[in-house]
Amino acid sequence: MTMADARQIVCIQCPQGCTLRAEKLGTVPSYEITGNKCPRGRAYAIKELTNPSRTLTTTVATVFSDCPLVSVRTDGDIPLRDVFRAMQELNSYRAKKRLHPGEVMIADLAGTGVALLATSDMITPDTTN
Ligand code: SF4
Repeated sequence: MTMADARQIVCIQCPQGCTLRAEKLGTVPSYEITGNKCPRGRAYAIKELTNPSRTLTTTVATVFSDCPLVSVRTDGDIPLRDVFRAMQELNSYRAKKRLHPGEVMIADLAGTGVALLATSDMITPDTTN
């Protein structure tokens, strides 16, 4: 392996933001990870090398004029390669049911097997009282 095979990765698992150096070694891979202040950094670096993924947070349009947008997030990480396809699905999606935070909006986002949850309330407060 050469230095060119090593990657520098900033760990985003906690606010410390350690700068990691991650290198895949051998054809039956093992990994040399340095710069991490805790074991979570090693796990994060290996995941970044093998299957990078993220929790997707965004907003989705609704059919309700009093609540035209609702914030959402995935109920777990989805592979980075699927993020563009997921955003394409959401760009044409309109939420037709009022949800509370934590309720499932889409059970299987873009075939990833990961659910999309509402993270803001779509219920308009009753102001008639
Ligand atoms: S390696 Fe550990 S301490 Fe450093 S940013 Fe990642 S989680 Fe935080």
